[in-house]
Order: sequence, then C-alpha cells, then structure tokens
Amino acid sequence: MRSPIPEYLDEVLRTCAGDRAGAVADYVPELAAADAEQLAVAVSAVDGTVYEAGDSRTSFTIQSISKPFTYALALADRGYEAVLAKIGVEPSGEAFNELSLEEGSARPRNPMINVGALAAHTLAGPPGASRAERFERVVSGISAFAGRRLEIDEAVCRSEMETAHRNLAIAHMLRSYEVIEEDAPHVVEDYVRQCSLLVTTRDLALMAATLANGGVQPVTGEQVVSRDVVRQVLSVMTTCGMYDAAGDWVTTVGIPAKSGVSGGILGVLSGQVGIGVFSPRLDRHGNSVRGVRVCERLSADMGLHMMDAPAPARSVLRGGRVLHGPASRTALVYELQGTIQFAGAERLVHGIAHTPPGHNEVALDLTRVYSINPVARRMILETVRRLTHDGHAVTLIDPDRVLSDPVAGDGIRPRVVDTWEWGEAPAT
Ligand code: GLU
Repeated sequence: MRSPIPEYLDEVLRTCAGDRAGAVADYVPELAAADAEQLAVAVSAVDGTVYEAGDSRTSFTIQSISKPFTYALALADRGYEAVLAKIGVEPSGEAFNELSLEEGSARPRNPMINVGALAAHTLAGPPGASRAERFERVVSGISAFAGRRLEIDEAVCRSEMETAHRNLAIAHMLRSYEVIEEDAPHVVEDYVRQCSLLVTTRDLALMAATLANGGVQPVTGEQVVSRDVVRQVLSVMTTCGMYDAAGDWVTTVGIPAKSGVSGGILGVLSGQVGIGVFSPRLDRHGNSVRGVRVCERLSADMGLHMMDAPAPARSVLRGGRVLHGPASRTALVYELQGTIQFAGAERLVHGIAHTPPGHNEVALDLTRVYSINPVARRMILETVRRLTHDGHAVTLIDPDRVLSDPVAGDGIRPRVVDTWEWGEAPAT
C-alpha cells in the first residue's frame, strides 16, 4: 500500500499555493533575491519517518529558527539559573530587532528576539570557551538536531554583515549593560553566521521531531539535549516564537513554533510530530504567509492543536476482573493500558479507594501499558504499599517491566510476574 500522507501534503500545498500575499524580506539584500514562489512542507514522525512535498529539499538560511536551538544549547551548557539570570522568558510585544531590555532587570526579555538571541549565542559552550570553540559548539549543536553537518551560506552572511547596524547597536547595548562580556562586533558576526546556516524544509521537520521526541534525534539516536531543556524551549517558543503574532498563532494553529525571515517555520507537537514549512513571502509580522496557511491546514486536518482535549484518562483503567484459582482462591486483577500519567493513575487510586477489593489477592496488569511517568509511578507504588498494609497480596503482571524496580514505601516489594499463572479462568 502507498501511504496517503504524501498525497495529502501535495493537496495542502496546491490549495495554499494561490496565496501570493506578502513580500520577501529585503533588509538583507541577498534574501531579497529568493524565489518567492518556493513552497514546501515536511512532517516527521518521532521515529524519523519524514513525509514531504514541494521544494522540501531546497536549501535556505535558517535565520531566526536557529534561536530556539542556540537557547537549548545555552541551557544545556550553562544550566537554567545562569541562563535565566541573563535572558528572560516574557513575550516582548515588540519588533524582533528592537533595542530594548526588561525594566529593572536589564535582561533581554526573551531569547527569540535578537537582543536575547545575541545573548544566548554567547552562553553556548562551557564558560571560558574561546570564540572559535563557542562557534563550533553552536554549529555542531544545531547540526545535531538536524542529524547532519549544516553548512554556512557565505553570500547571505556577507550580505547581512554589510547591513548589520541594528544588530551591532543591540550587541553594544548588551555589552554596556554587561549582559555579554565578549567583543560586540564578534558576537554579531558569529550570530549572523549562525543565522546563515543552510537548512532544507526536511531538515526543519527532523529538527522539530528531535524536540517532539524529548531531545533525541530520531535518525541518529543522539540525545542532543535533555527533556527538561526541551520543555523550556517549547514553552518559550509557544509564547514568543512567532514574532508578535503569538496570540493569533496559538489560537488558530496551536503548535509551539518558530519562524524566520527567510520564510521557514518550524513547529513541534510533543510526542507526535515535527513540522517544517517554507515559502519566502512574509506577512506584516514577519511570518511566511503561505507557511502560516499550511500550518493552519495541518493543525485543523490532523487535529494537532495542543489545546485539543486528549482522550479521557478513564480509558487507562480497562476494568477489574476476578480470576479463580485452585483451592477456591480468587484474585482481583486491575487491567491498565496505554501511557499512564497523573490522571490515569488517579483513576486507579479512585477505583480502589472507592470500592476496596474484596479479594485477598490483587494484581495490577501492566501488560498493555507503554509508559508510566514519574508521578504515576509514585502513585502506583503507594497504592501497592497501602493495599499490602490492608492485608492484600499484591502482584504486578508486567512482562515488559514498564514499572522498573518496583519498591514501594516501607521496603515493600510486590511480586512481579510475566503472566498470571492460573490462566484465563471464567470471570464472575
Ligand atoms: N539574521 C536575522 C537578524 O538577526 C534573523 C532575523 C529573523 O529571522 O527574524 O536580523
């Protein structure tokens, strides 16, 4: 069978191609030369399967889409406190290249505007790294998200440097407020080189999929940054990633995203997909006109809005069944399924607290459970402890050991088995 997804993506591009509104960015002369008709989309699953359509293998400069990745590297290399001391997390409501700092703290308001991105660039790599080491950390770090070494478009870089007066002014301001300690023109040059890294729409989808996959690049398997770093980056992308159109974007598309002046947009839906889109004409906010339209379509058609209510947690607890064994023994088995988080574990706790099991032997069947997050793990182990204290013999049916090392409080270790030894006795 041929997958229907590429045909669907072709159809989305066809319906969005007619929109010729907006204009190609021209404040960097070399960007103004881009072919405005280019249009591409790529969607990557978290296992690295990429579906793509249009000009998805055409290269363009990453521009501001590099910002969340440099921020991720800074967080990974310096830790939260050090980075938060220098760069805030509040939306600015100002243009991306505004010369402004947060009142009081004199920090850049967030890392998605130039003032914050220039500061974040200086925080990549270990403290005391040389300029060359820091730059290499930025290039190899961003490349690790893409899963291949990215090259620099020297022509775009040169062209932007010739007109980089605003970024130079910002960097000097940062230096005078001691947000950065490095030579201001050097920081601008390296930041502009960072923005000039060449990516394809396919690369964007895989970079996004790395974030959607908890920081693990799905093709190379490399843990590029930790889950905690990903959460921080996606949070800031949600509130600050689409220039000053964040409210519009979150309500209509609802996917944490970052766009850039060359016409790319990168979107991340945690645990589901990474999205890349590209088309050079920009709207008044600086976001790709057709890119936004494509993302609106994908979100609506594929149900990707992050605020869409998930399936109710009650589906985690499939129910309880009574098994009959030799010598009139009976056991009550609670069957769980899927991914268990707080709300799913609460269903189990509620069920047991509300209707205490009237059988001496109790089992939690985790055979159909894929994953248990830390809070659900604590709740399940506490349930085991309480059931044990109430006089029940507790068994975990856990062939894949999804609840690894199940030691409950008071040193209680439930029995763990692959299958229940009585077989399928008739339920009552
Ligand atoms: N290189 C660009 C700048 O700093 C990036 C801007 C953008 O994509 O928003 O001006």
